[in-house]
Amino acid sequence: MATLDAKIPSGSIAEKWTNHKNSINLVSPANKRQIDVIVVGTGLAGGSAAATLAELGYNVKAFCFQDSPRRAHSIAAQGGINAAKNYQGDGDSTYRLFYDTVKGGDYRSREANVYRLAEVSTNIIDQCVAQGVPFARDYGGLLDNRSFGGVLVSRTFYAKGQTGQQLLLGAYSAMNRQIGRGKIKMYNRHEMLDLVKVDGKARGIITRNLVSGKIERHSAHAVVIASGGYGNLFYL
Ligand SMILES: Cc1cc2nc3c(=O)[nH]c(=O)nc-3n(C[C@H](O)[C@H](O)[C@H](O)COP(=O)(O)OP(=O)(O)OC[C@H]3O[C@@H](n4cnc5c(N)ncnc54)[C@H](O)[C@@H]3O)c2cc1C
Repeated sequence: MATLDAKIPSGSIAEKWTNHKNSINLVSPANKRQIDVIVVGTGLAGGSAAATLAELGYNVKAFCFQDSPRRAHSIAAQGGINAAKNYQGDGDSTYRLFYDTVKGGDYRSREANVYRLAEVSTNIIDQCVAQGVPFARDYGGLLDNRSFGGVLVSRTFYAKGQTGQQLLLGAYSAMNRQIGRGKIKMYNRHEMLDLVKVDGKARGIITRNLVSGKIERHSAHAVVIASGGYGNLFYL
């Protein structure tokens, strides 16, 4: 039976991604503008990836099938976003967020990736606040938390019942800034049909223009697939 190689780095679970990030080849700032990256999807994953890559200097082509990136399914998320900031002093830690997430994922998640997510969770909140996401605050003006999903700590940052919508507006604004700078070329109403691989590496995609029906090809040095998951099964 064929098994999927997720290419997770080796080492102890808490150090895999940190070590990998410390030893990976870097691209010099002067060379980034010569590299094209395709990002398929403009939800919270794709929208923020596209904005960040463009901010770093790469040339990004972003694709979504909706009429606007702002309509990605991420808009449906409500409860909030978890981060191990331990603002409540209730014993939270990176390890506890990792543990709860693996358990909440029915022990089916890739554990090293969950650990990395728990590690960077605190930075994600800081980035979203800097982008202007209006997370709920307590009467003293500090960021508020609630307990979500049956966990024993309060680590969920939220914006009423509209967290996904507010987060998406933050990512979308950062992305739009880069569209305005010419660093992201946005392809709305384009559906990816196929991935183009050259020597085993993803180098492009085939799309259908949903307005004209035209089949198009797009090339790049790398392709990021951020097309969402089973969430699209929910009817909005
Ligand atoms: C009702 C609901 C409530 C939720 N509540 C929470 C919560 O409280 N907290 C939490 O952490 N998570 C929550 N989630 C989960 C979370 O919202 C999602 O996991 C997350 O938003 C997915 O983001 P994404 O960027 O991966 O995908 P999406 O937002 O689904 O974006 C997918 C993107 O890919 C594009 N795309 C897909 N296929 C193609 C194609 N063939 N060609 C071109 N483009 C394509 C789409 O146009 C879109 O832009 C909730 C989910 C739902 C449904």
